[in-house]
Amino acid sequence: MLAFQYDMLPSRVVFGAGCLDKLPEEIERLGATRALVLSTPEQHKEAQQLVDRLGTRAAGLFDQAVMHVPIEIARQAREHAKALGADCCVSIGGGSTTGLAKAIALVSPLPILAIPTTYAGSEMTPIWGITEGGLKKTGRDPRVLPKTVLYDPALTISMPPMLSASSGMNSIAHCVEALYSKDANPIVSMIAEEGIRALAAGLPMVVKEPANLEARSEALYGAWLSGVSLGAVGMALHHKLCHTLGGIFNLPHAETHAVILPHATAYTAPAAPEAMSRIARALGAPCAAHGLYDLAASLGTPLSLAALGLKATDLDKAADIAVQSPYYNPRPITRDGIRAVLEDAFEGRRPNR
Ligand code: NAD
Repeated sequence: MLAFQYDMLPSRVVFGAGCLDKLPEEIERLGATRALVLSTPEQHKEAQQLVDRLGTRAAGLFDQAVMHVPIEIARQAREHAKALGADCCVSIGGGSTTGLAKAIALVSPLPILAIPTTYAGSEMTPIWGITEGGLKKTGRDPRVLPKTVLYDPALTISMPPMLSASSGMNSIAHCVEALYSKDANPIVSMIAEEGIRALAAGLPMVVKEPANLEARSEALYGAWLSGVSLGAVGMALHHKLCHTLGGIFNLPHAETHAVILPHATAYTAPAAPEAMSRIARALGAPCAAHGLYDLAASLGTPLSLAALGLKATDLDKAADIAVQSPYYNPRPITRDGIRAVLEDAFEGRRPNR
């Protein structure tokens, strides 16, 4: 019998090619008059264009966002926002830039208007992360959920095909784990399944023809749904493994997700048959884990942890750390089981469980 809880998160989404033109009116809608625009150094040009578009409604630009939000950068950005008298943050970029906006919103009343340019999904979640002394602390706080999100697929055309593919697999991972989350509910499961379908349909064309706006729209639509899934329900083994590997061995975020996903899925499969059939259906494949592996292979994302620079001698340490603190997974986590998952992922072989 059905029984569940679901807290819908309040955010406004404006989606569509060219919707960036609505930025000034969306800023006005938030009641803001002094927007601080945030970006990475690599996306300075795009950020400066936003400052120009906003004219007198722009307070300034901070272009020092980097992966995993180091506390020093968060402090600088917070100081900058304060010194400029900013009353809103506009982030343009991937999860790193959205993450910096969240670090500001965590300690101030500034609302966030997020303009995502990857498929990471952070813009739809109340999850923040800040790295201090080499450790990434994360938490949930409704204050960091962006109030408005502008999804303009035209902004994703510049995303290199390989970043698009790995970011897309990262996005699919959110949907996969939402389907067997301990907080799973029928609405989020519907959203997650549709997210996998849209990403699996859009990504192959994105990689083949990066400027195809139709494919970019489909993939970004899937990424939105995946962000909703990630924001709504808790994740499990796959995200835990990626977090461990990223944090300890400094492996690249999205690529690590792409490598681990088929193997974590194969491990969990026997305990989550309904989720697996929904994943397989969304992929149009007979088996969820094989479908994910074959999709990653067809997109050309790295298939092995070895290719990401992990050493075979690191596998035991990774397995030890991954089982140190208990967490939810439909199939209980054992040291031997995780070691085997890591071994398969290290070798990059097609899952055969
Ligand atoms: P990223 O934001 O670090 O971006 C990677 C690089 O690509 C950057 O140099 C960026 O400027 C560039 N880039 C982004 N969009 C581009 C585009 N359209 N064209 C050209 N270059 C572009 O990468 P990411 O994978 O989006 O984000 C990863 C980070 O986000 C990690 O720190 C992860 O932990 C975090 N994250 C957080 C959440 C959350 O809910 N809090 C969710 C997902 C990811």
